[in-house]
Amino acid sequence: MRALVTGAAGFIGSHLCAHLLACGDTVTGIDSFTDFYDPARKERNLRTLTGSPGFSLHRADLLTADLAPLVDGADAVYHLAGQPGVRPSWGAEFPLYTSRNVLATQVLLEAVRQHPAGKFVYASSSSVYGNAPVCPTAETVLPRPVSPYGITKLAGEHLCELYRQTFGVPAVSLRLFTVYGPRQRPDMALARLLHAASNGAPFPLYGDGEQTRDFTYVHDAVTAMREAARSAFTGIANLGGGSPVSMKQAISTVENIVGPVEILPLPTGPGDARHTSADITVATRELGYRPRTTLHDGILAMAREHPRP
Ligand code: NAD
Repeated sequence: MRALVTGAAGFIGSHLCAHLLACGDTVTGIDSFTDFYDPARKERNLRTLTGSPGFSLHRADLLTADLAPLVDGADAVYHLAGQPGVRPSWGAEFPLYTSRNVLATQVLLEAVRQHPAGKFVYASSSSVYGNAPVCPTAETVLPRPVSPYGITKLAGEHLCELYRQTFGVPAVSLRLFTVYGPRQRPDMALARLLHAASNGAPFPLYGDGEQTRDFTYVHDAVTAMREAARSAFTGIANLGGGSPVSMKQAISTVENIVGPVEILPLPTGPGDARHTSADITVATRELGYRPRTTLHDGILAMAREHPRP
């Protein structure tokens, strides 16, 4: 398959590119190397990819790039470029979220409409649910985001559905639940936790630690993304790890693997959902999805890149 991956230099995008190449696909990546976190980390994310036969990278912003030659003839467009992060999405940063998550998605869908490509796979988010009334949460539950980030991811999903229903763009939105693994974004909880455990720095814990997350190992997530591109399925599917745990449990797993962590308790921020838990019936049925990596094994893989001094 010939694939286009937006956000190719990011955490999940770089894992997806590696997986596609390992499956024999030809991959064109596009990334603008935003400064949300140190762009040098993104260069490192790409280290194993650059030079691989079958991989090429465009350093460009979706909002200004000439997308026609990139989407034309692609068998799959994986749209991962975006502005992540719940807490910074309040206040003055919101325009970054609307331009990178909503406007960029619309521009890409327009390019795909005018130059039909194969499947369009959108990296949506569990944050669209907000504080869901039912856990595990199925796709039929009415999304009610509790953060500006969640609003923009939901708007991206609605655009995918709109272009699917109006113009026949074969779009799939995958609602990813807290993806983790090696090279995880440095602002995310497990990356901060492993950093704290290996460096002795305190770990800022927001809330009482009883909030739960359905941690999803990155290789399980990108495997399902490729299956979504190959399947006939269109619409919306959850991708969760299958066994939600509390932050306290996640902390004790890291402590067992790496060592003690000093906790710095902080109040819950606005926008933090209390519990996330995916009903993965649709992904299992339509994509053959089965999360394979336990939290223990996934954290072990992350710990290898955080050696204790
Ligand atoms: P990331 O920040 O590591 O990757 C996103 C990449 O997109 C970055 O490399 C950035 O430079 C690039 N980018 C942003 N705007 C761009 C634009 N206009 N043009 C070109 N490139 C642009 O984040 P991630 O954690 O890998 O997340 C990838 C996607 O998955 C995002 O859309 C995010 O909303 C979604 N998602 C992530 C998670 C998670 O747990 N990490 C959960 C749910 C959804």
